[in-house]
Order: sequence, then structure tokens, then C-alpha cells
Amino acid sequence: MRAEIIAVGTELLLGQIVNTNATYLSQGLAEMGIDVYFQTVVGDNAARISQAIELARSRADLIVFTGGLGPTQDDLTKDALAAYLNRPIVIHQPSMEKIESIFSSRGIHMVESNRRQAHMIEGSVPLKNEAGLAVGDGLTADGTHYMLLPGPPREMKPMFDGPGKTWLRSVAGDTHRLFSRILKFAGIGESSLEQKLIDLIDAQSDPTIAPYANEGEVAIRLSTKSQSEQEANAKLDRTEEQINQIVGKHLYAREDIPLEAAVIRLLRASGRKLSSAESCTGGLLAELVTNVPGSSGEFVGGVVTYTNMMKHKLLGIPMSQLEGTGAPGAISDSTAALMAERVRERTGSDFGISLTGVAGPSESEGKPVGLVHIGIARPGMPPAVHTIHLSGSREMIRLRAAKSALYRLWL
Ligand code: ATP
Ligand code: MG
Repeated sequence: MRAEIIAVGTELLLGQIVNTNATYLSQGLAEMGIDVYFQTVVGDNAARISQAIELARSRADLIVFTGGLGPTQDDLTKDALAAYLNRPIVIHQPSMEKIESIFSSRGIHMVESNRRQAHMIEGSVPLKNEAGLAVGDGLTADGTHYMLLPGPPREMKPMFDGPGKTWLRSVAGDTHRLFSRILKFAGIGESSLEQKLIDLIDAQSDPTIAPYANEGEVAIRLSTKSQSEQEANAKLDRTEEQINQIVGKHLYAREDIPLEAAVIRLLRASGRKLSSAESCTGGLLAELVTNVPGSSGEFVGGVVTYTNMMKHKLLGIPMSQLEGTGAPGAISDSTAALMAERVRERTGSDFGISLTGVAGPSESEGKPVGLVHIGIARPGMPPAVHTIHLSGSREMIRLRAAKSALYRLWL
């Protein structure tokens, strides 16, 4: 579980008080096996508190607030979170009675704002305040856990150590940390990956198996809660093995790296060099490969030969191959083979990779949108050509084509 602490208070930003609550909470959370990744300080301003929540949500599973639970108009934390989550404020009756009885026993007139300290966000668990009036909240919404604690340390500490930790254990599990592993796959779509693993996914609850896709790649996140890394790894290893028995040939990495990084790594290990000749992808493959830091050791360069003239001029492909009645055309397996072989020869690299096809939106040479030929030239053997049919937008076809080419090389 990843946590973020948000300390609310303009006096913190002005440097008038030291943020000792954050230190105290960080220590307490670490002892519970909860990783604190960020500490944030924000002033008493509803819009900026809301911004802080938005950012914290994107990077934390647990957000612990301290400060701004008091009765005055600058105590905004609960209202801001309630507004952010679009949940109503409700009255915590026991706290309301406690507040009323304290005021009446002291014979002091209670102003309306004091009632605010009995406010809670609907659906939250009350965290009892032994040293003050404001009730705290423990709340889970849309998969994120929120804990709201008062600012004064003499109130905050007993609330966190007592009811706060009890609530946290109920949502986080007793000192069990979450361990994850990312497996990355190529040459298979998200839906077919999921379909092949569906029995395993359905039968499996620990570790959980969650496939997801982005940027033309698919991945599986395995997650398990364990007391130790060793115990977690044993569980993750077992599940990974089951997955690999089914789709192992598509696995290219056991960490969250793009395919091009795995390809560069492989080339580096074998001391080989790569070049590219691209048509329909317009240099996207070269772009992906050169995004990998240090790839100049493995990628010597590439050409974008978009027109037939450039395929002829730069790669020496005969015009008779590209145009005219009976010619195979620019979008053909034989042209892909020539492009790959020629760029390999002309750059002196070990591998040449080529792409020619129809990215769309309209057909070309009478060939359908999504048809792509991939050429792979290797030393000492005739170039291999793979013909694939892709779907999606122009952008998606280009990205999938470039990734497919990398996958063919990786194989
Ligand atoms: P109150 O009921 O006192 O208004 P509150 O929950 O609204 O409590 P704040 O108004 O934000 O909390 O802060 C009250 C006081 O608590 C501050 O003046 C300061 O002395 C202390 N305090 C607040 N936040 C922190 C912090 N992060 N670290 C240390 N002390 C703090
Ligand atoms: Mg206050």
C-alpha cells in the first residue's frame, strides 16, 4: 500500500509551525508496513486542497490528512474532501451529544460552528477523539482510502494510534504489504491474452491476475499481500509459471519496460546491430528504438522511404518492382524483403527491419487498410517476411505495425 500524507494549514506554509505531524505519521505508517511515498503541505484553501487530493489520488492508495477539522471557517478539510468525492456531510450523533454536553456543563454558549466538529463524510467510519472535540474519519471511496485527523498533535497522536490504526488494519490487512510483478507480452492482443488465461484468472484470488493494455502493448499485473518479500515472491513465481505454461512464448519482460527496450537489451547482449527502412510507419520504429537510452550502440539508423522514388533512390529498389502493370508494388512482401535486405547491406548492420503497408484511412494500390508487410533481414539467410492485418485508427495501425516488427525481430 502506498500512502501520502497531506498536512493542511497555512501556518505550515508560512513557516510558523513545524510539520511534526507528518514525521509522526510517517514513522507510524512505516511501522505498519505501509510505504509513504509523498508528504504534501497545502494551505487552508478549498481549491488547492482539492488539487492536492487529485494529485495524491493518482499516486497513493491511502491519503492521510492532518489539520483543518476544527470549528472555524478556515477548517476546510472535511468539506473539501466531501465536495471532491461528491458525498454529503452527515452528523455523527455521539460526537454532537458530546459537544453539546461539554458546552452545557461548562455553562458556555455554543455557537453554531462548533457543530461542525461533529461533521462526517457520509459512509466513513468515525475515529474517536479522546483529547478534543472534532471527530476523525476513515473512508474508502473508489478504491482509495482516506483518513482525516485533527491538527493539534495532542489530539492527532491518540486518534491515529488508537482508532486510526484499528481502521487502517481493517482496510490494509495486518502488516501485510502489497507486492506486485509486471509481466509484459508481445505479439498477442489484450483480449486474446485474457481469453487464454480466463480460467486461471477466474480461479485465482491470490495473487490476483490483472491484464491491461497501453501503447500497443499488453501486460499482466500480479499482486499479492504478504508479510515478507520472500513469501510474496514464492507466490508470484508459482502464478507466473502457470501463466507461462499458457502464453509464455509471448513473454518478453518480467518488468515494466517497453518491447523496444527488451529488443535493445537483447541486441546488446549478443553484440548485434540493427537498422530500419520504413514506409507506412514514417519513422515510428526508429522513434521507439531511439527512445531507449543508449540505443546508439545497437541501432545504427534508419530511412523513411515514403515514396516509390525514395525507395528507388535510397535503397536501389527497381522501379519495375514498385510500379507498372504486373509489378508487385510498394506494398508487397517482395518489396518488404528488398527494403530490409538493402538497408541491412547499406548500413552494414546485422539486422535490417522494414515496414510497408496501408495505415489508412483509405486503401492504397488497391490493398486494404491495415495490411502490413514486415521484412526482417538477418546475416547469411534470405530475408523473412511477415504479413499482418491490423485494425484500428491510422495512429493505432502504425503503432501496432512498429511493435509487431519489433516482436518479429525479438523472436
Ligand atoms: P483546531 O480544532 O485546533 O482548529 P484543526 O484540526 O482544525 O484543529 P488546524 O486548525 O489545522 O487543526 O491546526 C491547529 C493547530 O494544530 C495548529 O495551530 C498547530 O499548532 C497544530 N498543528 C496543525 N497541523 C500541524 C502539523 N502538521 N504539525 C504540527 N502541528 C500542527
Ligand atoms: Mg483549525
